[in-house]
Amino acid sequence: MLTIEGISKRFGGVAALTEVSVTVERGQLLAIIGPNGAGKSTLFQTIAGQHRPDAGRITFLGREITDLQPYQRAQRGIAIAFQDVRLFPEMTVRENVMVGCHTSGHHGFWDAALRLPRYWREEATTRERAWELLARVGMADLADVAAESLPFGQQRRVAIARALATEPALLLLDEPAAGLTTNERGDLSRLIRAIVASGVTVVLIEHDVSLVMALADHVVVLEFGRVIASGPPAVVRRDPKVIEAYIGAEVA
Ligand code: ADP
Ligand code: MG
Repeated sequence: MLTIEGISKRFGGVAALTEVSVTVERGQLLAIIGPNGAGKSTLFQTIAGQHRPDAGRITFLGREITDLQPYQRAQRGIAIAFQDVRLFPEMTVRENVMVGCHTSGHHGFWDAALRLPRYWREEATTRERAWELLARVGMADLADVAAESLPFGQQRRVAIARALATEPALLLLDEPAAGLTTNERGDLSRLIRAIVASGVTVVLIEHDVSLVMALADHVVVLEFGRVIASGPPAVVRRDPKVIEAYIGAEVA
């Protein structure tokens, strides 16, 4: 579904990614792990289009997307839930999700500007759809609350609902479990499994190695911007390079 070939990205003197290649199969749950600063978020933002790579190419569903704008990649079916969430703080939870729905709206500019019936029909449909998406992530009860009033863990769920609103084929989740309690992590694992079961391919960046090993079909390990291991969880967790570089006693 997604092929990343030899991607490199520098920020001034920092080599955030060096010749990174990753392949994502349709229907898979692929996890990317690695220490802080390894280049994980940069890799995601290169896939979603916030960063243009210095070298390499990205192919999605058989077409090269390396030079496309983020909105064009979104139209082709790539959605991202950012590590820093990026909700509109003063808007309600539901309105934040409606922002994602609007990319598929069919009313024209004048329908919206003049508030023609077509606009209101679509507005009602969009409100309903946003509510359904919030129900899917367990946040329907809080649909009318301002996003900024929620704890971070719940804001992450809203961000996932907003990403799902674009009806993506590929969903990129950047550290969705960060700051969650053990119970919330269990809920999130179930949610991610349900998303994959619904037919969405998921790439997950995660710090919690035990969560990754239980969830993922395939694990890629980044260190200092390079892929140091890639394979099924059972293989990667025994890779001496991985144990030495990152996981250490946690899975030994
Ligand atoms: P991770 O998500 O694995 O923690 P990042 O991709 O955020 O790592 O960062 C990789 C490296 O690139 C780090 O050294 C970070 O400081 C640097 N970096 C990331 N984004 C930027 C940016 N926009 N400008 C400058 N340096 C950046
Ligand atoms: Mg990161």
